[in-house]
Amino acid sequence: MEGLKEKSLSVPKTMKAWVLDGPEELRLTEKPVPRPGNGEVLIRVDAVAICGTDVEILTKGLPAWIEGGLPFNKNFTPGHEYMGTVVELGGGVDEYKIGDRVAVEVHAGCGRCERCRMGMYTSCLNYGLNYGEQNKGHRANGFTTDGGFAEYAVNHINTLVHVPDDMSDEEATLIVTAGTAMYGIDVLGGLIAGQSLAVTGPGPIGLMSVAVGKALGAQPVILTGTRDSRLNMGIKLGADYVVNIQKEDPVEAVRRITNNKGVHYVMECSGAPNALNEAMDMVNRGGRICLAAFPGQPVPVDLAKLVRNNIYVYGIRGEGNSATHRAAALMAQKRFDAKLIHTHTFSLEELPTAFRYFRERIEDAIKVVVKV
Ligand SMILES: [Zn+2]
Ligand SMILES: [Zn+2]
Repeated sequence: MEGLKEKSLSVPKTMKAWVLDGPEELRLTEKPVPRPGNGEVLIRVDAVAICGTDVEILTKGLPAWIEGGLPFNKNFTPGHEYMGTVVELGGGVDEYKIGDRVAVEVHAGCGRCERCRMGMYTSCLNYGLNYGEQNKGHRANGFTTDGGFAEYAVNHINTLVHVPDDMSDEEATLIVTAGTAMYGIDVLGGLIAGQSLAVTGPGPIGLMSVAVGKALGAQPVILTGTRDSRLNMGIKLGADYVVNIQKEDPVEAVRRITNNKGVHYVMECSGAPNALNEAMDMVNRGGRICLAAFPGQPVPVDLAKLVRNNIYVYGIRGEGNSATHRAAALMAQKRFDAKLIHTHTFSLEELPTAFRYFRERIEDAIKVVVKV
């Protein structure tokens, strides 16, 4: 609530916002403050984290998709891992009040398609249809609609989650990252305490998969990666074993740790070209693999092994099924210390520097947060 004393809740007409011109061309400009519609609120953005997907958008445009095309030169504001304070309520909103601190999920599905009605709103069949005659009401802020590299953003209440008073702005930006890990575990069928989990790739989602898996009772939790600093962070977040794959073969290590049984689940968070083949050798027969990252090119996969061993493979997009609420509950209960992975903070004006720290991993940067 500190922020409330510092800044008034009166809303200006215009705001500072970064927009994407051509590839790699971010520009700080002045934009009208958006107005919330029915079921929406206006959020004063207090903090926003940089994600690997933001770099994809900056360089290639995709997966952002604005008005049926690439997001370049459309006055589009990226940024999707943000949190802030509710400063204005749209029509019919009584679930939140002015002054509430909230974190956001990325995806507000259309609410009317088959997938949305199943809780799979991150796979909305009307993805990107939110303009002109095509307005089905889908919004994915920072992907298909304006995001959080700005002073204000509009969000549907379905995408909001309350932030506890004792959680910092920086930590709250990690709720959606933990929510993605939680959704991956959901899609695997829901972890049962005592089942084993291997996480490959200690990026933000991999590290949060370790933390969420451990908080849900997984045993053992094994993390593989190439850098000792990240692996040590994995231990702090709950990994029982870490494997530096430059020193030991990850498949052999998982077999050794599990007495040659293999694990129940693998969360693949590295995107390495051979990761799925390795995951198939880590998991036991009938086991399950969730892909939360992917290689840049098509890769050969040993499908016969997959079939012979009755292995299930899932791909996830984002954080469906209200997983963010469950991840936030674990964080509110202090079941793991997500803020360990927050390494750097910059001001909104310093966004290009923040991106440089993130991309070049300067000073071992993991989660780089911009305070607005
Ligand atoms: Zn992200
Ligand atoms: Zn939908």
